[in-house]
Amino acid sequence: MSRAMTAVHALVGLALAVQAPAAQAAAGKAIKAEAAAGVEAQAKPLQVMIDQVFSYAEPGFQEVRTSAYLADILEKNGFTVTRGVAGIPTAFTATWGSGGPLIALGSDIDGLLGVSQTPGVATLAPLTPGAPGHGEGHNSGMPMIIAAAIAVKAVMEKHHLPGRLMLWPGVAEELLGTKAFYVRAGLFKGVDACIFAHVNTAFGTGYGDLGMNAMVSVEYTFHGKTAHAAAMPWEGRSALDAVEMMDLAWNFRREHLPVSQRSHDVIGNGGGQPNVVPALASNWYYFRDKDFAAVRTLYDTGNEIAEAAAKATGTTVTRQLLGYAAPNFGNKPLAEAAYANIRAVGMPQWSAADQAFARSIQTANGFRLQPLATTVAPLSTPETRGGASIGASDDIGDVMWTVPTITIGYPSNVPNIIFHHATAAMAMATPIAHKGAVVGAKAVAMTVLDLMTTPQLVADAKRYFTDVQQKADHYDPVLAPDDRPAIHRNEALMADLRPAMEKRYYDPARYPTYLEQLGVAYPGPTPAGK
Ligand SMILES: [Zn+2]
Repeated sequence: MSRAMTAVHALVGLALAVQAPAAQAAAGKAIKAEAAAGVEAQAKPLQVMIDQVFSYAEPGFQEVRTSAYLADILEKNGFTVTRGVAGIPTAFTATWGSGGPLIALGSDIDGLLGVSQTPGVATLAPLTPGAPGHGEGHNSGMPMIIAAAIAVKAVMEKHHLPGRLMLWPGVAEELLGTKAFYVRAGLFKGVDACIFAHVNTAFGTGYGDLGMNAMVSVEYTFHGKTAHAAAMPWEGRSALDAVEMMDLAWNFRREHLPVSQRSHDVIGNGGGQPNVVPALASNWYYFRDKDFAAVRTLYDTGNEIAEAAAKATGTTVTRQLLGYAAPNFGNKPLAEAAYANIRAVGMPQWSAADQAFARSIQTANGFRLQPLATTVAPLSTPETRGGASIGASDDIGDVMWTVPTITIGYPSNVPNIIFHHATAAMAMATPIAHKGAVVGAKAVAMTVLDLMTTPQLVADAKRYFTDVQQKADHYDPVLAPDDRPAIHRNEALMADLRPAMEKRYYDPARYPTYLEQLGVAYPGPTPAGK
């Protein structure tokens, strides 16, 4: 997929100037310090959670172990867990509290196909060859959110603060596969504000139109008729011809589409063998454009061209929506409150070993040398971004157009790595990931307490959502009533791979860290340059 990481990276990275945030948030300094200490006290269980989810490395819709593991931890900590929400087996909600505002906290949990990597090793070294891996760092997000929520809950219990939390995992985010379905299922009904978190190389947040495209993910399946391709070709109707025809027609049409669009496809099924006219073939398209209306038009055009290709080849076509993402729009009052906390927390104390390992990854893979950041990123605003378009998409957009929402980027990965690649997995079960998640959890916890104790902040966030964001556009996804989450995705693949992957699952009862279980020395040897 394109994506989130790139986007969030850009979101905090594009900002050019530091803006002093308005001091909106007013939770008492003392209770925020208690929450930060509560997170710090959880550094060990947080490390275990990050390492455990890294070792599961499950791709979209197959986060079976990951989901059960995280939900169990929340249940043990007093949250009420509802599993399988929105018709998605690996989705859940975990709620706690009473009265006050309802604050939703989420992060993604899925891995990526084909990027298995041994953590703590700076050269390409799959843990399980051919298996999925956390080549974006989604293993750290929900553990970080859980640590924040547990710390907040303890503070709220101690001080008898009213308020409610709802934790939710982003399932199949790499497929843009679930958040529009969460919204349609009413998961965010009654939610006052949502704080979302994504792994990054920087620590920051932003607001306004974040320059990310709306997106439709759709698979077209053409149905023809088999025949001997040489002896009786006139008896056949080639579904592959239809796929090729559609691609050709789309690429001619591309010249006459708005310059803001981006579209790309893969042929998922091109037939069996050349002497059998393919009766089944499919292509999988991503259509992207800047707003709801533009991406809807693009989708309609794709559907027309698919029908035309079927007509031209004597085949028929069916389609399945596989995912959707709304454009991203961050809430200004929330972003300013969170940013004040990010500045107050500051960056992790990187050790010499952390900096050495970051340098090793960059050296061994031919990336530009850049140390782990030691200052937080500037607040990203419409002014600092200057209207730049990122091109990629993130389905947190669907939540952003439903309730006031921000994304906090936390510094658990190494600068200049390639996302959706094994280099982005190398640090994700090392102290770099662990420390980045600790500071992220502190900022999340402090911002939640601001929301719980400052009715004005909740009111301001809602006013911005209604008066500024809704004036810019309004939520209008392409989902049809019979569109369903693509929960079958990656099922067959994981049935094949899981037995081999299970041998590498982290066992925290026997090893303090996953690196120790794998016998990986940190930061390891200094590699030769590339
Ligand atoms: Zn992501």
